[in-house]
Amino acid sequence: MSVAFRPSENIALLRESATIAVSARARALKAEGRAIIDLGAGEPDFDTPAFIRDAAAAAMHAGATRYTATEGILPLREAVAAMAREYGPVAADVTARDIVISNGSKQSIFNACFVLFGPGDEVLVPTPSWTSYYEIVQLARATPVPVYGDRARDLKVTADDLARAATPRTRGLMLNSPCNPTGAVYSADELRAILALAHERGWWVISDEIYRRICYEGDAPSALQAAPGRDNLVVVDGVAKAYAMTGWRVGWSIAPLDVTRAMTAFQSHATFHMASMAQHGAVAALTRRAESEAAIAGMVAQYRERRDAALAVFATAPHLPLVRPAGAFYFYFDVSAAFPGDPDAGSTFAKRVLEEHGVAIVPGAAFKTPDWVRASYAAPRDVVVEGITRIVALYRSLTGR
Ligand code: PMP
Repeated sequence: MSVAFRPSENIALLRESATIAVSARARALKAEGRAIIDLGAGEPDFDTPAFIRDAAAAAMHAGATRYTATEGILPLREAVAAMAREYGPVAADVTARDIVISNGSKQSIFNACFVLFGPGDEVLVPTPSWTSYYEIVQLARATPVPVYGDRARDLKVTADDLARAATPRTRGLMLNSPCNPTGAVYSADELRAILALAHERGWWVISDEIYRRICYEGDAPSALQAAPGRDNLVVVDGVAKAYAMTGWRVGWSIAPLDVTRAMTAFQSHATFHMASMAQHGAVAALTRRAESEAAIAGMVAQYRERRDAALAVFATAPHLPLVRPAGAFYFYFDVSAAFPGDPDAGSTFAKRVLEEHGVAIVPGAAFKTPDWVRASYAAPRDVVVEGITRIVALYRSLTGR
């Protein structure tokens, strides 16, 4: 008997990532031999620093090839806890017991949403935001509630915006600073107001700080530096972006002990632990501070140079609404004036710039803001400048200014 696939209730609302169509098309064009400028990527274009690769290889040769504890090896959890304690008084009591190492920060977000939210719960999602938040909250059978940020504030939300969107069912809040896709960074004061509200209302806050170290005016403030306490706070971070370690899949959560226990139990039945050799590589990244700080500073300096070079190109189109990125490695801009009346102007623009000018970017529909598009500058400087030059030229030709 043949069995037809009928998706289960679990994935009733699941959608393929909206970024896939454009990247699939970009790949097809590349396969046809077209030179494509790829500004679609969400990952550093740098190699992982050599000392980290060497440490992982050495650990593997020394026998780090067996199962570890679900929550990860102690030296890595201790290194994460020590880093967290540097955030100040609210984090002063963080120990290795509050940490779970997971398969990328993505799994930490998944763990947290699963153990904290469920049917009937609403979770506030400042929007635009990373597409996976909505999907993960829905997989936990809770309801994501987009809260749109004002363009006058670089699309960031305020405590008042969140208070207005809240209902008696609100149970949590996703935070992401620096923000993917906008590159906007919440100041300590902005975070303080939001976190005070969340604490007062008893909401769980999941603070995704994966881009914290990629910031152009000092590190972005952590929620642990701005919260009145950490009893309602799960901070998620990892090595992917700052250390150019996306493929290693090492992330972590810093959470209250009972939440950490629940996430450990949940992860133990899902994926168990993170690859052992990758954990050892992450120990080197976090503990060999002089080397890693030099590596991060070098990469951030290059992102900054690319950003500034591309901003000079954007300056030739002063009417194009653009978030000036203070962190991460993305430009986010509103192309709706190029296609008046088009409800998905970002996708239309992304298609045109790919087909006609060979530049791959991501439509804002992926981030629930379809008037916008995202261009990454995690690519060599000349490539970024050429890509943004073509984008700006297309925008100017379509808008006539
Ligand atoms: N959060 C955000 C905002 C991201 O952009 C990404 C990667 N695109 C992640 C989390 C996932 O990172 P990781 O590789 O650590 O799973």
